[in-house]
Amino acid sequence: MTNDLWVKVLQALKATVGASNYSSWIAPLEFAQLNDGVAIFDVPTNFIGNYVSQNFGDQIIYQLKKAGQDVDRLRFRVPSQRGETAKPKEKTKPAAPRDASSAPLDARFTFDTFVVGKPNELAHAAARRVAEGGPVTFNPLFLYGGVGLGKTHLMHAIAHELKLRSPDLNVLYLSAEQFMYRFITALRERKMMDFKQLFRSVDVLMVDDVQFIAGKDSTQEEFFHTFNALVDSGKQIIISADRAPGEIKDLEERIKSRLQCGLVVDLHPTDYELRLGILQSKVDFYAAQYPDLEIDNGVLEFLAHRISTNVRVLEGALTRLFAFASLVGREITLELTQDCLSDVLKASDRKVTVEEIQRKVSEHYNIRLSDMIGPKRVRNYARPRQIAMYLAKQMTSRSLPEIGRRFGGRDHTTVMHGVRRIEELMALDSQIADDLELLRRALQE
Ligand code: ADP
Ligand code: MG
Repeated sequence: MTNDLWVKVLQALKATVGASNYSSWIAPLEFAQLNDGVAIFDVPTNFIGNYVSQNFGDQIIYQLKKAGQDVDRLRFRVPSQRGETAKPKEKTKPAAPRDASSAPLDARFTFDTFVVGKPNELAHAAARRVAEGGPVTFNPLFLYGGVGLGKTHLMHAIAHELKLRSPDLNVLYLSAEQFMYRFITALRERKMMDFKQLFRSVDVLMVDDVQFIAGKDSTQEEFFHTFNALVDSGKQIIISADRAPGEIKDLEERIKSRLQCGLVVDLHPTDYELRLGILQSKVDFYAAQYPDLEIDNGVLEFLAHRISTNVRVLEGALTRLFAFASLVGREITLELTQDCLSDVLKASDRKVTVEEIQRKVSEHYNIRLSDMIGPKRVRNYARPRQIAMYLAKQMTSRSLPEIGRRFGGRDHTTVMHGVRRIEELMALDSQIADDLELLRRALQE
């Protein structure tokens, strides 16, 4: 195969996998040779090779075939292993080779690096318990919470710990998306027996972001059977999702109820203390990378206050701050922080409007917006209305009279009454507290 042709294939791949996947995974591949239907690529690390093979292998073969090449298998090799110059190392270590069927685990996601605070202590404790192995106490463990709150981190931590304790344990970790992809590939290639065999033979199955399979009927079905087979033979299952089982739309009822059978725990949005703790825990890492730079607690406190979206954004901010300060050769001060992160800080400031709140709340309770704002006083409308008022008071800077005006011209005392009522109910009714949590999270996205 000529280089020109490979360049064309690359372009086609870019269009199918998207720019960011392309630059992370496809661009690092170097075509080496094509022999007997096997295309060989040089890759910087095993991790990249494994990942590409699992996630983009079929697409690469497909595009090569389309370009007229006779390819039915791919091989990835790391040049340094053949004594050539090493390329830059990935931060993430490759998974142990015998786990070829598991998605790679991030070596940094361990219990040691997980900072525990009020919002995640229950999830952490449950994860710890499962990671101890031994008799299966709750099955499945279902972890849920918003984006970037540490679900994947905890799952990887469990997998690392289990393998440390029992190296022979067959732990299979993958995303629901990868589950579907493998299932579909198995169907297409008529390898369902292999597929079933693989999934039924694991000791611990971990499926990340399970909400992904909602609405995908045959994948759900297969997931259900896999799940039941494993539970029946006493194997541990750990699942994560961005919301509680009952809240996942288009997920079959029987799956929801199976998922609820074990222990369901959620990761709450971070609070200030947890964010500060996480930032402080990362500082040593940066200090080692940038020995000339120092960051004082004031800056960390500022970040913990101002960036309340999620941990991923928080980490990104810290990375950028160090890189920026080192580039411009300046100390990390509050001013520098504000300059460097003005966009992140502004985005975190994003103001939710009363209208957005009304829309989300009425969607959530399945009522019409006009009924929420209108005069009807039946409980079905009044309760969501009060919830929307409460959120408007909490999440916007509008005054009570301003909020009242947006609720069909109601008086400010009505708004105040609504807000108080919800405050009382929150303490008494966990359903309302959960609803509020969910709505607040959805509005902050
Ligand atoms: P999720 O899967 O819930 O979207 P991740 O587990 O990918 O979130 O977490 C996003 C990033 O934030 C990761 O880099 C993770 O290490 C970090 N992170 C999240 N929570 C914590 C925590 N409690 N302590 C340390 N790092 C955390
Ligand atoms: Mg995740």
